[in-house]
Amino acid sequence: MPHDLKPGDVALMGVPLDLHSSFLQGPAFAPGRIREALHSGAANLTAEDGTDLGATERFRDTGDLDVFEMRGQEPIDRIEAEAAKRIATGARLLSLGGDHSVAYPLIKAHAEKYERLNILHIDSHPDLYDEQDIGPLGHGCPFARVMENCPIKRLVQVGIRTMNAHQREQADKFGVQVIDMRNWSPDLQISFDGPVYLSLDLDALDPAFAPGVSHHEPGGLSTREVINLIHRFEGQLVGADIVELNPHRDPYGMTAMVAAKFVKEIGARLMTR
Ligand code: MN
Ligand code: MN
Repeated sequence: MPHDLKPGDVALMGVPLDLHSSFLQGPAFAPGRIREALHSGAANLTAEDGTDLGATERFRDTGDLDVFEMRGQEPIDRIEAEAAKRIATGARLLSLGGDHSVAYPLIKAHAEKYERLNILHIDSHPDLYDEQDIGPLGHGCPFARVMENCPIKRLVQVGIRTMNAHQREQADKFGVQVIDMRNWSPDLQISFDGPVYLSLDLDALDPAFAPGVSHHEPGGLSTREVINLIHRFEGQLVGADIVELNPHRDPYGMTAMVAAKFVKEIGARLMTR
């Protein structure tokens, strides 16, 4: 068993890969920056519900995958295999991207372990492109690949504010439930029946809260609203990723600290419910 993981553990895993980014590189350096923020000493490791990730043996860092130099399909296959190994132990996986292309192999591994998997996808972009200039593995495509290749019960997208005609067609074709920013309400209650995978793209937040991303898209969620979403949706959270931090655009490491906050809140929820 890798890293001696046990059932109920939460396994942190860094995925330093950004070769599928369409606009800027940088997210490959995110896992290290998020860990630095988490362990900077500026804050403790206690989540808001009182779960102290620093005081439990169950919160385990399994390091970064060796995907940085890989090209094409190879890193995608490696990510899926390494995710599958970790969750086969009964541990729950919290992955730090990387650009959003890493979500496809991560979700594929979870969909093979958990039947009738639901996905909560928080993002300013629907990421449903059939193909981008950089190919079908582009970071604007992962949820098209997921819906084509994985037995997903329900995909719910929150924070969306860049829906174009092609992606609208794709959303209709795959039966995606899109809650766009125009229709956002802080009282929104999302309920899932069964296991849930959470994929959190930091550009869902307004750039005022999270400037360290490649694609600034104004009009987004606040940090508090995303934390409330993490706390309040109904369903069994079984795995998650936090993607698209671009340290090259992150003054004072502000966005890395936002990501570290989400690590604590998601980590606590993965551990307790
Ligand atoms: Mn995305
Ligand atoms: Mn995005």
